[in-house]
Amino acid sequence: MRRGPHEIRLPMKIVVGNGLLEKIGNYCRKLGFNEKVLVLTGPHVYYVAGKTVLDYLEDSRINADYFIVKEPTFDVVEEVQEVIREVRPETLVAVGGGKVIDVAKLASFRENLPFISVPTAASHDGIASPSVSLKRRDRTPVSLMAQPPMAIIADVDVIMRAPSRLLASGCGDIVAKLTAVRDARLAYMIKGEYCGDYALSLALLSAKHVMRSVDLIARRSEAGVRTLIEALISCGVAMSIAGSSRPCSGSEHLFSHALDLIAPKPALHGEQVGVGTIMMAYLHRMNWRRVKEFLRRVGAPTTAKELGIDEYYVVEALTIAHKVKPRRYTILGETGLTWEAAERLAKATGVIE
Ligand SMILES: [Zn+2]
Repeated sequence: MRRGPHEIRLPMKIVVGNGLLEKIGNYCRKLGFNEKVLVLTGPHVYYVAGKTVLDYLEDSRINADYFIVKEPTFDVVEEVQEVIREVRPETLVAVGGGKVIDVAKLASFRENLPFISVPTAASHDGIASPSVSLKRRDRTPVSLMAQPPMAIIADVDVIMRAPSRLLASGCGDIVAKLTAVRDARLAYMIKGEYCGDYALSLALLSAKHVMRSVDLIARRSEAGVRTLIEALISCGVAMSIAGSSRPCSGSEHLFSHALDLIAPKPALHGEQVGVGTIMMAYLHRMNWRRVKEFLRRVGAPTTAKELGIDEYYVVEALTIAHKVKPRRYTILGETGLTWEAAERLAKATGVIE
């Protein structure tokens, strides 16, 4: 079979280390941005890291405007685009968690600008990926391919100070690669959907590496946090290589997207995805107990109760997950699970009582 050319865009620079925020001016200059940048940050994270970045940019005599992202919506992306057209920055610097980074990713892509990712938490793999997930007004999730960050500056000191729950959530998003890769292989066998084995292996390697480092992560040691950050970045790179989110997002993600749609108060992305991974591993006849034990040890939820979501919604989400992104073929198949099968699955894995 002949395939067309496969184009891969990767970050130019990835830095993981201590005290990096104060060097942000240097990094901008090294990347060729000397005049003017636009910093995107969140209302809370502004005080934690955003303001520091702005101060250090000023010290480096780089003109920096800023924009506070309150909601990650398409309207906000358009607002940011307007600001870009007004201010005409050389690059966007996204200081925050996934929401800020997603908005920066899409707005910069649409305006043909590079962006620099400065994650303040290790809560999911969007910090380095080319894909964006935003919600429409009716809560339906939309995943788009935009561009990977030109550089990722991950300050370990800042990320270590983030709430412990965010780190546990990052572990959920990483363990998900076990089932995501199985789903990708299944989609190739059943649907002939090609996804390069190198990208799949890279995603899998990240998951296995993090699972091996469970002690370090459970203790919240710096080595553990670094391992997790590097694994999340590797997953972003795997998506860039694949040109899609396939290596990192399978049925466990569909389950999480379904919960986002129906649960009155959804949990964090990585938390839901982690619980989804337990159940999808069961369907794939993998060692789901190991997944559950890993999540438990890093302090991530493993049950509906711990997610803070009513058991009813967990079962319902399992029955509708296959419809959330119909083109993403997974172990859930085209018709999904019946109510009885979903209930049995959630009970067998102890997700519901
Ligand atoms: Zn994810």
